[in-house]
Amino acid sequence: MDTDVLIVGAGPTGLMLANQLARRGVRVTVVDRHAGPARETRALGVQARTLEIYAQLGIVARALELGRIATGANLWAQGRKTARVPLGEAGRGLTPYPYVLILGQDDNERIIGDKLREAGVAVQWNTELVALAQAADKVTATLRQPDGTSRKVEAAWVGGCDGAHSSVRELNAIAFPGAPYEHVFYVADTEATGRMVPGEVNVYLWRTGFHLLFPMRGKDHWRIVGILPPGLRDSKHASIEDVLPSLRAEAGAGLAIKACSWFSTYRIHHRAAQRFRDRRCFLLGDAAHIHSPVGAQGMNTGLQDATNLAWKLALVTQGRAHAALLDTYQEERLPVAQRLLATTDRAFRLVVSDSWLAGLLRTKVLARIAAFAMAREPIQRFAFHTVSQIGIHYRASSLSASEPGLPDDAPRAGDRFPWLRLQLEPDAPVEDLFAKLDDKEFNLLLIGQPSPPDLPGLRGLSHIHAIPADPSNAAELARARIPNPSFYLLRPDGHVGLCGPLLQPAALQRYLSQHLHLRP
Ligand SMILES: Cc1cc2nc3c(=O)[nH]c(=O)nc-3n(C[C@H](O)[C@H](O)[C@H](O)COP(=O)(O)OP(=O)(O)OC[C@H]3O[C@@H](n4cnc5c(N)ncnc54)[C@H](O)[C@@H]3O)c2cc1C
Repeated sequence: MDTDVLIVGAGPTGLMLANQLARRGVRVTVVDRHAGPARETRALGVQARTLEIYAQLGIVARALELGRIATGANLWAQGRKTARVPLGEAGRGLTPYPYVLILGQDDNERIIGDKLREAGVAVQWNTELVALAQAADKVTATLRQPDGTSRKVEAAWVGGCDGAHSSVRELNAIAFPGAPYEHVFYVADTEATGRMVPGEVNVYLWRTGFHLLFPMRGKDHWRIVGILPPGLRDSKHASIEDVLPSLRAEAGAGLAIKACSWFSTYRIHHRAAQRFRDRRCFLLGDAAHIHSPVGAQGMNTGLQDATNLAWKLALVTQGRAHAALLDTYQEERLPVAQRLLATTDRAFRLVVSDSWLAGLLRTKVLARIAAFAMAREPIQRFAFHTVSQIGIHYRASSLSASEPGLPDDAPRAGDRFPWLRLQLEPDAPVEDLFAKLDDKEFNLLLIGQPSPPDLPGLRGLSHIHAIPADPSNAAELARARIPNPSFYLLRPDGHVGLCGPLLQPAALQRYLSQHLHLRP
């Protein structure tokens, strides 16, 4: 076998998968048909859940240094500011990163790519997957090399991170049902001044469309995203000058574009692959699902697909788990993609519909509802949970198991375990729990109970954290509705695998063999 995992595509998803595997000691080969990393910014909203994963990879400081924190989003309709979503306040206490980080896809790829190089893995550019043959124990991939010749690579598994036109998907004849939207988007990188709230996202709703203005690093640097006015949809040569009248009509006549360094138009689709796996091949990121950019979820979802699959592939390639564990990738991530498609589709249709009624709804009703809703804390927090992706859960997964006896409002199996600040040793200072979890292994949290002397199945696989009984810990646990006593076995990706009131070694053993498919 030439490699454990052949990763096709070195966009954000492929680079994340390669990193997550390489740091767990899995041999990876990464190929991409382009000559080098993408230079366009494309996606630019990095959500809190992604930043939590960046922290585990050791790249969050660099991302924060290069990006721009947006702590609020402002909604404008008919020239008036109608609502502000206070992202910072809405997410306070829920994550170390209560905001959206505005950081272009090119910068994200550079940071994740640098980390991969540190792990000793180099992307093979100008190398295209052209054929695949699957056998019971391996996949043979044919790659076209920079000099035009072909070579064959044998891999135990293939990660198809090769974008919307995925060859891995097509070579496995996996359908990609969905449709294109009739609207054409544009993106522009500009130097602009106007009435925009500085340092925050500004959303302009107008009768026949919308504009989003994202604050970028640098003075007066704004990324503008919008849909082309209907008359321009078929134009092949639209420019910033063409969209300025509609932009000024909403963002105010005072809006001045001093420079535009990039203007591009694109048509988007909403599609999800029928399956995320065919035997030894997996689909991740845009290869598996594409949707409207409303909500800045696309790149983030691909990064989390990679995080979900990587720890499972690592356990299987290292012979520590049976291949049945890999079935849970599709089981967990396909419903996430389908839900995302449905919600972004609904939101998108509302903000772009051409109908007169929708225009009225957008500029009058939606603006008022948003102003009303966003003044309410529970709604703000619900919105933050959803957009930041910290609310994504796998409660229905076969990997999620709860022992009876936990209250209904306690964190459940499948949830991302909440962010807590705890005293992890008696009389020690309060620490960020996420910083203490080892995401290369499982982590067992024991609350109000001693660590059993022997947990055979977990040896070498898990870190055990017995949380000391202490008034500040009790208050923090109560805030997150974590009862005493309780135990939580966290998977490497931070989601709860098994939980319950008192840990019984036999129940743990059963979980490890029957749910996680660990080898004895
Ligand atoms: C103009 C534009 C604006 C966007 N704006 C946003 C936004 O604001 N927010 C958001 O969340 N998302 C946005 N997106 C979507 C976002 O860019 C994607 O979700 C993200 O790029 C997906 O990453 P990926 O790694 O899965 O795929 P990609 O980034 O598409 O990477 C796939 C890689 O696979 C390679 N490849 C393809 N076929 C082969 C092959 N046969 N052999 C070898 N290599 C191959 C390609 O060269 C490419 O490098 C935008 C997209 C576009 C086009």
